[in-house]
Amino acid sequence: MEAKIKAFMDEVKTRNGHEPEFIQAVQEVAETVIPYIAKHKIYNGKNILLRMVEPERLVSFRVAWVDDDGEIHVNRGYRIQMNSAIGPYKGGLRFHPTVNASILKFLAFEQVFKNSLTTLPMGGGKGGSDFDPKGKSDDEVMRFCHAFMLELNRHIGPNTDVPAGDIGVGAREIGFLFGMYKKIRNEFTGVLTGKGRSWGGSLIRPEATGYGTVYFAQSMMQTNGMDLKGKDVVISGSGNVAQYAAEKALHLGAKILTLSDSQGYIHDTDGIDEEKLAYVMDLKNNKRGRISEYADKYSAATFYKGETPWTVKCDIALPCATQNELDGEDAKALVKNGCVCVAEGANMPSTPEAIHEFHEGKILFAPGKASNAGGVATSGLEMSQNSLRISWSREEVDQRLKDIMEDIHDSCVKYGKDDDGYCNYVKGANIAGFVKVADAMLAQGVI
Ligand code: NDP
Repeated sequence: MEAKIKAFMDEVKTRNGHEPEFIQAVQEVAETVIPYIAKHKIYNGKNILLRMVEPERLVSFRVAWVDDDGEIHVNRGYRIQMNSAIGPYKGGLRFHPTVNASILKFLAFEQVFKNSLTTLPMGGGKGGSDFDPKGKSDDEVMRFCHAFMLELNRHIGPNTDVPAGDIGVGAREIGFLFGMYKKIRNEFTGVLTGKGRSWGGSLIRPEATGYGTVYFAQSMMQTNGMDLKGKDVVISGSGNVAQYAAEKALHLGAKILTLSDSQGYIHDTDGIDEEKLAYVMDLKNNKRGRISEYADKYSAATFYKGETPWTVKCDIALPCATQNELDGEDAKALVKNGCVCVAEGANMPSTPEAIHEFHEGKILFAPGKASNAGGVATSGLEMSQNSLRISWSREEVDQRLKDIMEDIHDSCVKYGKDDDGYCNYVKGANIAGFVKVADAMLAQGVI
């Protein structure tokens, strides 16, 4: 089996040699899915995984825009349409200086499995730009978004490809993008998700990724006779996913000890309560400030510059910032300090070495493609509401989100149980996600 996996990965590396994040994501899937393929004849000899690692389409384009001083800037825009076997491409847009083809291909590849797990009919895609919204005025962000959509509009549509937000793309950016799409195409459709409430957005969509991650963690804990109530929780990030993961964990009775951003983390020994979280939301979403300011305001908190929060003793860890933010040493510290559950709110935040440590330590570990699927699932619900031209209540969307997260959890357990009873959620998520997409690809023939 190892030789088969190596031969497959050698081919992937030859074609994608300069794309380390993409190779990392494919390696993790190959290690769990190739043994499954070998045991199931219908997939034999079909090169199905090789077809899945090649994007159906990859678009790269120039985005030229003018700043407030009249200076012209050029950024690179992308849309990666990875797989449409089970529905229109669906996946977020990321605006961050680190964005490149490797990062977007890994995200698009993960998205295919994640969307399949949601049980909704959505293919996988991802896009974005190396544009950095930080430090830009609202007008500059608007001009950039409009320029980006001038090209992107040719490649997307409500039945073709439906982008959403991701790092650096929140409600403000989705508004500007939607406005330009509507103007160019002269149609009001559900072409983007994460829209404002008064123009087609779904209740609970902003909360969905963070809430869903905590629902998933709660399912893992309960399946193993534990609960979130009274537990110490360490969270990284302070953006959309981190904020609502903190909110839901608080609702379920947990104590939140940390939040972070790219400059460091804050540790509040008294816990981040509802009032303090409201301060963080205002600081990050309206004032666009830094998390270090939290420690200036609250005396129980300390800011640790340039560090990540994984050495803080906790029961549960929720990495909600970015890829590869938690390495093998961090994972060792978490396990040693008694952490029993790690659920990824971000995409691929744990390195392969970290995942190895979690599995060795036999603690509960949920990969992002399962535990953060609540965001795209609720985007799927937003698409349904747009098509039906109706709007579901907050309670209704939240209940559907909860049900979907429980279904994803059960699928992971179905395919992920090891012989000793330990649930390997990575294996479970990869195989469950693979089966639905692979079966659709087989049915549709070699295309
Ligand atoms: P936001 O832009 O709202 O927040 C991102 C947070 O992560 C910020 O606190 C940011 O800090 C921090 N961060 C970004 N880059 C780094 C870095 N290199 N090192 C340390 N911290 C960093 O993004 P989201 O909350 O939407 O996304 C967070 C993660 O969740 C991403 O991996 C995303 O792909 C994933 N995700 C998001 C979904 C969604 O619905 N939004 C859905 C599913 C997954 P700073 O402000 O300093 O940059």
